Amino acid sequence: MAYKFVDNYRERGARKQLVETIKKKGIADERVLKAIGKVPRHFFFDETFWNQAYKDIAFPIGEGQTISQPYTVAYQTELLHIKKGDKVLEIGTGSGYQACILLELGADVYTIERQEKLYERTIQVLPYMGYKPHFFLGDGSKGIREHAPYDKIIVTAGAPTVPEELLKQLTVGGILVIPVGNAETQKMVTILKTGENDFEKHVLDTFRFVPLVGDKAW
Ligand code: SAH
Repeated sequence: MAYKFVDNYRERGARKQLVETIKKKGIADERVLKAIGKVPRHFFFDETFWNQAYKDIAFPIGEGQTISQPYTVAYQTELLHIKKGDKVLEIGTGSGYQACILLELGADVYTIERQEKLYERTIQVLPYMGYKPHFFLGDGSKGIREHAPYDKIIVTAGAPTVPEELLKQLTVGGILVIPVGNAETQKMVTILKTGENDFEKHVLDTFRFVPLVGDKAW
């Protein structure tokens, strides 16, 4: 793949349009919209496909995986209610785009990917762009116990159930956002940890993610 890190007026214009598009679709949080307006999503695409980078669509990034649709990234991010300094665990680094959005909001991001090639790519590309999450390679379906607890946990792949271990790794007052369903479609689920063993669960809209594969997943 031929990556090029140049942010031209054409891409900047397209990015502004993308912000308007997802605003119309219902994303209201100004901070999230600002982050989408800032992160150069075309940096995650081969230059041949730059004309696809600011369409509100998911796109293949290799290894049978995708960079999530911007609307979906914004939707999950909005649900996390990120505060500056929040310690956030992202399961499914993929392209790294979602991690950049979380970093723009001031989060301290721990991100884990199970596919080595994707991991290798993000540990090079993100710091080059100026984004510095903590990168991990491995199965994130059981979280990362060594660095727990987290204020927020976001799962960017579709899970069959909510892994118990992730709830354990949340702080009290913390939020988990995870798509749960079958291989075809999933419902976005948010879980607020209200006490050591108390949770408040909300089931929201339908999405289609690549599967969460692992010990506590598919
Ligand atoms: N957040 C990504 C979306 C990537 S798609 C982005 O912004 O581009 C989901 C990713 O989850 C894929 O890269 C897939 O390999 C990864 N994944 C699936 N199961 C996983 C697991 N158990 N642990 C870590 N990563 C996983």
